[in-house]
Amino acid sequence: MTMTSDNHMRTFYEYIVVGCGGIGSGALYWLSKRVGPDVLGLEQFQLGHERGGSQDYSRIIRMAYPDDMYTKLTPHTYTAWSEVERESGLQLVYRTGGLSIGEKGVSDHITSEYARAMAANNISYENLTGRQLHERYPQFTLNDNLVAVYQKDGGIVDAALGNSVHVQLARGNGATVIDQCPVTRLSRDAGGRIAVHTTKGIFHCRKVLLTAGAWMNHVLGSVGVHIPLYVTQEQVTYFGTPHMKDFTKDRFPMFIYHKADYDIYGLPIHGNSGSKIGIDAVGPVTTADSRTYEPDPVREKIVIDFLQTTLPKYLGPIIQTKTCLYTMTPDRHFVIDTCRKYGWDDVIFCCGAGHAYKFASLLGKILSELAVDNHTQYPISPFTMEREAISNPNYKTDFHMKGNSQSKL
Ligand SMILES: Cc1cc2nc3c(=O)[nH]c(=O)nc-3n(C[C@H](O)[C@H](O)[C@H](O)COP(=O)(O)OP(=O)(O)OC[C@H]3O[C@@H](n4cnc5c(N)ncnc54)[C@H](O)[C@@H]3O)c2cc1C
Repeated sequence: MTMTSDNHMRTFYEYIVVGCGGIGSGALYWLSKRVGPDVLGLEQFQLGHERGGSQDYSRIIRMAYPDDMYTKLTPHTYTAWSEVERESGLQLVYRTGGLSIGEKGVSDHITSEYARAMAANNISYENLTGRQLHERYPQFTLNDNLVAVYQKDGGIVDAALGNSVHVQLARGNGATVIDQCPVTRLSRDAGGRIAVHTTKGIFHCRKVLLTAGAWMNHVLGSVGVHIPLYVTQEQVTYFGTPHMKDFTKDRFPMFIYHKADYDIYGLPIHGNSGSKIGIDAVGPVTTADSRTYEPDPVREKIVIDFLQTTLPKYLGPIIQTKTCLYTMTPDRHFVIDTCRKYGWDDVIFCCGAGHAYKFASLLGKILSELAVDNHTQYPISPFTMEREAISNPNYKTDFHMKGNSQSKL
């Protein structure tokens, strides 16, 4: 357990953030800018643990989304990260350029959707033929059957560093962060405030911000709320390419390649790792408690076969296949709401739906505004828990997005 000595005896905070992963650490930071020492972060494991969704060298960040609700937010996410970079003096976002690649007659309607959403939101982009793609990035084999949309701001965000920077800046602003401290439940105390029960004692606060990822329903359950969430075990593989120079951040972009049945994505080398590749949302459904950390050799083979034909120099010996959890809603869109319908308008929660790291800082800012101001300046109305995908138990789940793949990574 980590605790600042001057806060040792303190049990009341205006705000308590439950879960200090990507989004929770963002909420801590943005809240601490508003309220200084009046915020407490509680994390069940050690800070920086690898059991959730946010701990890796890199995550994709991009302006381009195939729909408006995220494309309206993406410019703000860059702004939020740049404020964190300015305050910490550390670079977190690398604009490598980003590609959305489709196959003619198979998945080019998806690249067209990216282009449409960007045009509608005044984001500049370029259409590339397969030949232009190869000319600009000869690492891709020449394939006239491909089309691509290029956006210059696409790139990577250093997730592991982002989390620790958020936490360190928050502590610098006076926030308290206690790790190895699971929250077991919430209840109403005699004064009408929230009692946050943990294995280390009870804390009290005016508002709770719940950012518990795959464990969300464990805590929500104690206030009578259940969100339909599907936890899947995903994985990424790092290859020790001998052609490192071809895959540095200044020579190679982040890419998402839309196959007929799924999306494959890749990121340039960042940190003490190799070329990185993964398949979006094809992992088995599991739970945070029953998941394994075992790589799936079938998915490793799929990406190797893909690379052999499309991006052969990316390959090398496997350095590591890292498993990780997606926590997805039935429509794969975020949920950002309060539990007001259940009498808990002072409990605010956020589910990232398996594509939220790029937004982690912005979501933290949004949550801080909801907590302090009771409203946010950002357009989050599509993410209400009242929508059909969350409120209708018969809603047809389509989070795998197979057959009409539209990666949200
Ligand atoms: C393989 C993979 C690749 C991905 N790639 C991308 C990408 O390229 N771009 C992108 O934008 N997104 C990507 N994502 C998704 C993104 O990483 C997640 O959506 C995001 O990181 C989730 O953040 P979170 O804070 O909700 O969850 P987490 O980071 O899991 O944080 C939840 C935290 O809450 C803590 N917690 C839970 N319950 C309690 C409790 N009761 N008491 C105290 N603490 C508790 C947990 O221990 C955990 O630390 C990827 C995810 C995976 C798995």
